[in-house]
Amino acid sequence: MEVISSFATDRGRKRTGNEDSLMANDWLGLYLVADGMGGHSCGDVASETTVDVIRATVEEAMKNGILKRNPEKVFLDAIGLANRGVWELATKSVKCRNMGTTITGVVVTEKGFLTANVGDSRVYRIRDGRIEQLTTDHSLVAEEVALGVITSEEAKVSPKRNVITRALGLGETVKVDSVLYEVLDGDRLVICSDGLTAMVSDAEIATIVSKESKSSLNRAVADLIETANLNGGTDNITVVVVHFDT
Ligand code: MN
Repeated sequence: MEVISSFATDRGRKRTGNEDSLMANDWLGLYLVADGMGGHSCGDVASETTVDVIRATVEEAMKNGILKRNPEKVFLDAIGLANRGVWELATKSVKCRNMGTTITGVVVTEKGFLTANVGDSRVYRIRDGRIEQLTTDHSLVAEEVALGVITSEEAKVSPKRNVITRALGLGETVKVDSVLYEVLDGDRLVICSDGLTAMVSDAEIATIVSKESKSSLNRAVADLIETANLNGGTDNITVVVVHFDT
């Protein structure tokens, strides 16, 4: 299996800083997006710490062969370690006491990939031009949609749409959703923060990502960010696009 990716992050049109963090490494087969919160630059600390700890842990596990044997355990342990790291920083800090972050990631396995998710950053799969959200948002509006209290259209404009119900760094441990997927030739993934999905519809994401060749993934990434900014750019925008050849 061959995997290639492209990525970018953008401050957007309204925010003064960027509290999102990301990494994408085809050699390691690891892709991460974290959307930090907490104000006073604390969100940056939470999201950067999370990405750094997970990357270092997965890289170590790759070098000593554990990653290949048990990718799910490695990935979940790495996220648990990151959670504890952010939580310890927060408990020691006066100004960053309430910091936290989302984490959404993909690790490539022998026949496919594993997703992991806490919060409302997302993984989408685009297959034959059709888009499917693989992760479940841990947000108030997602829970209300699941209960049938509101529709997904109402969720998009709800004043509560930014309230997340699970985040990394808020407690000593965290519950992580993790799912294993098989890959078909030509599958693409979009891993992104809510700064993209609040501004660009799923259908639009599918169109933009599908129209570029695998050697032009960078154009898809740039187009997604430009579209989010043209539609308002009210939040930081982070996008990773991954292409699989089997
Ligand atoms: Mn955000």
